Amino acid sequence: MTTESGTLWGGWFSVARLEPGVTMIGEPLHSEDPKSFLVEGSDRAVLIDTGIGVGDLGHLVRELTRLPVTVVVSHAHWDHVGGNRHFADIRAPAGAQAALREGWSDERMARALDPRELSGTLPTGTDPDHAGIPPLSDVGTIAAGDRIDLGGRTLEVIAAPGHCPELIVLLDRANGILFGTDAVYAAGLYAQMDVSDLDVYLATLTALATLVPDLRIVYSSHGTVPFEPGLILAMRDAMAEVIAGRPADREEAGGLRHDFGAFGIIVPKPAS
Ligand SMILES: [Zn+2]
Repeated sequence: MTTESGTLWGGWFSVARLEPGVTMIGEPLHSEDPKSFLVEGSDRAVLIDTGIGVGDLGHLVRELTRLPVTVVVSHAHWDHVGGNRHFADIRAPAGAQAALREGWSDERMARALDPRELSGTLPTGTDPDHAGIPPLSDVGTIAAGDRIDLGGRTLEVIAAPGHCPELIVLLDRANGILFGTDAVYAAGLYAQMDVSDLDVYLATLTALATLVPDLRIVYSSHGTVPFEPGLILAMRDAMAEVIAGRPADREEAGGLRHDFGAFGIIVPKPAS
């Protein structure tokens, strides 16, 4: 994919108003292209995840909204938490907090920002050798079952383990929107990580499938945005097929990829 960096905010962030009160902030020059979502009610806003941490996400979000902003961390992977430093009010699942308190080292982030992962230049002032994600000391907790009232809009927190244990998704039930984070997205689903569990992932997909009749649209953190809620049913069935022993199609991202058209499932390589 080629992207005109001139059209990106600060030379880095893509900004798309998806519908009233929902803005997607992407990082298309990085291979992961993680998406963060600014969700606004009448009284306050939630920012779901904060991306890789290069560029001034705080400045961008202040340009997008005058409402007080609470960051909701979906899970503790480096490509979703990097910009936390720009915000004061941050909440995360209990299972993400130890990693957030530790931060990510300069060495770890230098690997993540390797030129092979980039299709353009990093924002001005970014030193890829000193792009570590600083430890956070003051993080509030969110948990499955919490309801975040933004004024005229409510986000429900739903546990979605599988990709990793602490992962959550957020449901705006009244508007039929699922923010699928790293649980469901239209690209290769990462189930190959040390922290992934295929059986747990299947249970999550089975639970999310029960929401599909009430959903209008899904906005997720990787891949094509948006996608049709019905794709979650296909993901559930595909995961069951993979667990039952379907042969993989090829290697990808350190694992073995199963292709299912609009999405894939990447599983661990068998121990050799
Ligand atoms: Zn992740």
